[in-house]
Amino acid sequence: MALEEMRQPIESGCPDGFQYMHPVMRKNFGQWKYHEHPRPGVLRHVAHSGDEIWTVKAGTQRILDLFTLRKLTEIGDKYGEGYVRFTIRSNIEYMVADEAKVQPLIDALEEAGFVVGGTANSVAMISHTQGWLHCDIPGTDASGVVKAMMDELIDEFKNCNMPNRVHITTSCCQINCGGQGDIAINVQHTKPPKIAHDLVANVCERPSVVARCPVAAIRPAMVNGKPSLEVDEKKCICCGACFPPCPPMQINDPEHTKLAIWVGGNHSNARGKPTFQKLVAAGIPNNPPRWPEATAIVKQILRTYKEDAKDWERINDWIERIGWPRFFEKTGLPFTKYHIDNWRGARASLNASTHIRF
Ligand code: SF4
Ligand code: SF4
Repeated sequence: MALEEMRQPIESGCPDGFQYMHPVMRKNFGQWKYHEHPRPGVLRHVAHSGDEIWTVKAGTQRILDLFTLRKLTEIGDKYGEGYVRFTIRSNIEYMVADEAKVQPLIDALEEAGFVVGGTANSVAMISHTQGWLHCDIPGTDASGVVKAMMDELIDEFKNCNMPNRVHITTSCCQINCGGQGDIAINVQHTKPPKIAHDLVANVCERPSVVARCPVAAIRPAMVNGKPSLEVDEKKCICCGACFPPCPPMQINDPEHTKLAIWVGGNHSNARGKPTFQKLVAAGIPNNPPRWPEATAIVKQILRTYKEDAKDWERINDWIERIGWPRFFEKTGLPFTKYHIDNWRGARASLNASTHIRF
């Protein structure tokens, strides 16, 4: 597109999506008769009018550089019909109304190094949070964990070998975005924050930091004649919530910031209520650049699920059928004291807590 033709960005809300839809989708909006899954990475939708549309799905990293984006859209212009959309799990989907275009499109994507798959009962692209690029509080780089794991799960993405779809998520701090997947890999801090007292008065609003702490472990204090804060380490649950409003409450640590794995999260659907994920592995080393320990546990859970679950059971359905003791037995994961919710505030949260309880 020539520079003079480019429109000014509209900064108020997202634009109307209909203008970007493939014409066949626009025409048949709300009028689809059925869809099928001819091969991994491809969906075929048939409308009541008799129109058909094929969707080809390829995995991408969530944060795309301009060159990759250009390459993807050039493939869409040349081999597709110029219409793409991104899914919430960072896959790109090309829509074509002509079946003859499907295979050349797949070939072009694969030749350019993209992986086609992620549909139906595969392991979909791992969704992840912004990490170091956009956020100021990560304890790890979620996109790095995703890259390392998807490299090892590429066959599970390209093929449909799982009992049902598997959604994996990662998040790079313990308190904010991410989570609620069939398997979630989350940061877990294990030591209270270390305070850079000299900086607190210049950087932090002390009342808002005190108010952030869910267990009231932070108090204002004078240190070396300067206003600062102190933490009651016996109370601190190492959540990291004080770090965003006050970076001198340094909690990220190469050794003591770990990863934890939670399983069984699922949003509600036509058949079931939402289920909350539960902690199954804690204290896993946060070990860049390949995170081998966390990846090995995820693969172990997936392997057991694949062997033991019945067709169509999601991970939460499978665990509900066999029970948590059998889950730990079958996966070989150790059940430790860290799986028991002993948080002093749990009395108020017991009915909502996602931990395993006794
Ligand atoms: S998970 Fe936490 S650190 Fe990561 S992007 Fe979200 S708020 Fe930031
Ligand atoms: S890490 Fe969490 S519990 Fe500990 S002092 Fe900070 S806000 Fe409070």
